[in-house]
Amino acid sequence: MIINKPYVLTDIKKTTPDVTTFTFKAQDNTSVDFVPGMFAMLTYQDKATGQKISRAFSMANSSPADSLQFFISMIGGQLTSKLAQAKIGDIYYISAPYGQFRFDINAGNKLLFLAGGTGLAPFYSMLKFIIDKGAAPDVMLLYSVKYPNDIIERDGLERMISQLGGRMVVTVTRAVPEDNYQGQTGHVDAAMIARYVPDVKERVSYICGPPAFVKALKDALVGIGVPEKEIRAEMWG
Ligand SMILES: Cc1cc2nc3c(=O)[nH]c(=O)nc-3n(C[C@H](O)[C@H](O)[C@H](O)COP(=O)(O)OP(=O)(O)OC[C@H]3O[C@@H](n4cnc5c(N)ncnc54)[C@H](O)[C@@H]3O)c2cc1C
Repeated sequence: MIINKPYVLTDIKKTTPDVTTFTFKAQDNTSVDFVPGMFAMLTYQDKATGQKISRAFSMANSSPADSLQFFISMIGGQLTSKLAQAKIGDIYYISAPYGQFRFDINAGNKLLFLAGGTGLAPFYSMLKFIIDKGAAPDVMLLYSVKYPNDIIERDGLERMISQLGGRMVVTVTRAVPEDNYQGQTGHVDAAMIARYVPDVKERVSYICGPPAFVKALKDALVGIGVPEKEIRAEMWG
């Protein structure tokens, strides 16, 4: 049974100009066992009015874990504006884990991770989990961000990908000439996938990000000839 429990906010780290990593630990010190890809419901409760705001966030850390870590886009919405004022020691309520988007370490040895923006979170969790388990799948990460400095936990990502002997391609969708960005630009599409992942049909593909990103890439993979049963997707929003 999934229980809604008080969690203490133990760490706040600004990861990019728009994304902050929040770490929560259960007040009763229990750990959470989840499959990477799954999400938690995080609830803010106003002390004065009792009003609650709950939103879903994908775990970004490995499992099982004493703490839960989330990469959160600080968009100034109902919950994210509360989080923008949060302080270490604050209490939030969390129930977890939920969701059908689950990493299956036994599903295949060749993986394609397609991440859009904060949709990187479940893949960060999967990479950590793979390394914790001592597994060594062939991982290709295609990661779409708006601006060059939007790459979440770049050092950790590069370290894990290189430890696995995998490959990461970042594409920047809103590069401006002043950025002097030399890397890949533009939205991920079938042509970009075919260019960087010529063996895409041999891979199990996981997609996570905003609805338009997920839909476009699911269609692109199916268009290239990837069987639907080899595609797993999580849509936010
Ligand atoms: C399964 C699942 C997992 C999720 N995991 C994560 C996660 O790991 N990290 C994360 O950051 N979010 C995640 N989300 C989204 C999250 O649940 C919230 O929707 C988000 O944080 C906004 O909540 P809010 O209360 O601040 O905004 P709300 O007050 O609910 O307002 C949302 C409004 O903001 C608009 N909006 C959406 N995105 C943006 C944007 N980038 N800039 C400006 N406006 C925008 C939307 O159109 C919407 O109308 C996930 C959602 C789902 C369903």
